Amino acid sequence: MHLRFSATDEAFRSEFAGWLADNLRGEFEAIKGRGGPGDENAFFDERLAWEKVMGAAGWTCISWPKEWGGRGATLAQQVVYHEEYAKARGPGRVGHIGETLLGPTLIAFGNDDQKQRLLPGIRSGEELWCQGYSEPNAGSDLANVQTRARLEGDEWILDGQKVWTSLAQWSQWSFVICRTDPDVPKHKGLSYLLVPMDQPGVEIRPIAQITGDSEFSETFFDGARTAANNIVGEPGDGWKVANGTLAFERGASTLGQNIEFQNELAEVIHAAQRNGKGDDPAFRQRIADAWIGLEIFRYNALRVLSQAGSDLPPAAMINKIYWASWHRDLGKLAMDVLGMESQVLDDAPYELNALQRLFLFSRSDTIYAGSNQIQRNIIAERALGMPREPR
Ligand SMILES: Cc1cc2nc3c(=O)[nH]c(=O)nc-3n(C[C@H](O)[C@H](O)[C@H](O)COP(=O)(O)OP(=O)(O)OC[C@H]3O[C@@H](n4cnc5c(N)ncnc54)[C@H](O)[C@@H]3O)c2cc1C
Repeated sequence: MHLRFSATDEAFRSEFAGWLADNLRGEFEAIKGRGGPGDENAFFDERLAWEKVMGAAGWTCISWPKEWGGRGATLAQQVVYHEEYAKARGPGRVGHIGETLLGPTLIAFGNDDQKQRLLPGIRSGEELWCQGYSEPNAGSDLANVQTRARLEGDEWILDGQKVWTSLAQWSQWSFVICRTDPDVPKHKGLSYLLVPMDQPGVEIRPIAQITGDSEFSETFFDGARTAANNIVGEPGDGWKVANGTLAFERGASTLGQNIEFQNELAEVIHAAQRNGKGDDPAFRQRIADAWIGLEIFRYNALRVLSQAGSDLPPAAMINKIYWASWHRDLGKLAMDVLGMESQVLDDAPYELNALQRLFLFSRSDTIYAGSNQIQRNIIAERALGMPREPR
């Protein structure tokens, strides 16, 4: 097991850190550390401008192959990139769904026309994407999707409802799983369509969250239209393509989160030092436990990296459940450290501070991108080779 990054990776680190130091300042000073889960409404326009600056300099989509405008960055370089971005307190990226989910899916399953038409907009930050998977009765059981699409002439017509569509209100496009053949077994009748959001047949109703924000929405399709060639793969390939996207969602991007978590833990420690909880043995123990948990996460990420070829090894499968549970527990610790102060809002009507946002939003970490229970099934069946759960 190698626990150090190579000289090439360190050179890559210096190049990106230098670029961030030169560019993430001036008009972008205010957005440092803002945005991202639980804080998506903050400085959205400014973060969109920042996305375009990153795109123009070739610092988005670095894991994509060079022929599609990426840098062909290795897994280790992707981790280094995330580390430097977090160290510089880079703002939450507004284009991450296109960059990490749809882009790799198109590269793997799309045709050349789709790649040429759609990848440049993701890279430049001109076109934002949202994920139209979940429905009221299709979350963990994604194959139960009921949104329907039928081909009429040279267009698909969509009817149905999606829910929890993150960033829908800011997106130009959605990648939608829908049922195109109701007469075959449920996994076989799905297709993966690319649907423009700005049209009369699409209605977006933001959902108010416990954080006070509305980062996700209900999305209604009522005769929504998209061109016949906006299908990834063939009709009926939706299940295969959708699972390809999920593999990207649970893959390399989570390995680079360590520094962001370190920043949050540092805030909790700072709060404990400020209000005297740092002298309390019970709190000292819990803070030490949190630090140890983060170190274990870091070492597992390094172990995964040192074992990884082009695919992630089975040890990567514990990452999601590990970081999600650790982060949720950090939120609880933060509230306990703040004590009565945790009940006080920063400003009217509902202005949360960073630790309050952390607590409230991290409740959802163990649900999205595969709930903890689903992660346990994945680990049991795919990593440990145990019998499949009855379906
Ligand atoms: C912050 C956030 C952002 C999201 N963004 C998006 C988005 O952009 N696009 C999108 O399409 N969706 C999005 N989602 C939805 C997310 O993918 C679903 O919430 C998730 O798949 C779980 O589905 P569900 O909510 O329908 O719960 P259900 O699937 O109904 O699960 C309910 C409970 O039952 C458990 N359970 C279900 N099946 C099993 C099983 N087989 N074995 C054991 N336990 C089981 C689950 O773990 C959970 O505890 C988002 C969710 C959140 C919280």
